[in-house]
Amino acid sequence: MSIKNNLLEIKSSLPETVTLVAVSKTKPVSDLMEAYEAGQRIFGENKIQEMADKFEQMPKDIEWHMIGHVQTNKVKFMAPFVSLIHGVDSLKLLEEINKQASKNNRIIDCLLQIHIAEEETKFGLDEAELIEILKQVQNDKFENINIKGLMGMATFTENQDQIKKEFLHLKTIFDKLKTKNSQLTTLSMGMSGDYQLAIDCGSTMVRIGSSIFGGRK
Ligand SMILES: *Cc1c(COP(=O)(O)O)cnc(C)c1O
Repeated sequence: MSIKNNLLEIKSSLPETVTLVAVSKTKPVSDLMEAYEAGQRIFGENKIQEMADKFEQMPKDIEWHMIGHVQTNKVKFMAPFVSLIHGVDSLKLLEEINKQASKNNRIIDCLLQIHIAEEETKFGLDEAELIEILKQVQNDKFENINIKGLMGMATFTENQDQIKKEFLHLKTIFDKLKTKNSQLTTLSMGMSGDYQLAIDCGSTMVRIGSSIFGGRK
């Protein structure tokens, strides 16, 4: 199967309400261009330098999403162009994004990453930390940040019941917040192995890499 065929097949299987982020990390620009020519305009990367290099080389109507863990000192390299940062998990990082967005006269959309997996290694906030950060955001009135929703990654396991439980947990937190903040519209959950389940559990944005571009080394 070609990248184009993979992409079109996945796209046709997604409900209209679900946005597809094509996760192109580690893949060459020629692969991304194949997806671009098949109509894809949203790409996700997990390293800021790699994303900036690809941004330079590719058409300017692409939306670039940062889906990886973000180091504060690197925010400045993506602030001029990034359209959504999925993995925001601290106030310190929000402050830096706000500062760099302001320098670039932009408002940058962000998702707060919630820890839903069993693994300790996955980044993210728990519910109490989330509430605390949202409170701070309201007090500090960050003018150059727009918090659009939440992101989460399920445990890497074959156990569908467990993955489902984790996705539903995130959806519950999202729904609770949405009743108070109507600007929260995006729930980013689901990857190649679990996106169908994620959609069943209420995802509005899926991040799919290997099912489009093939496996990574
Ligand atoms: C790599 C990555 C993905 C895509 O993973 P696939 O299994 O290749 O679809 C999605 N989300 C995040 C945060 C990633 O780092």
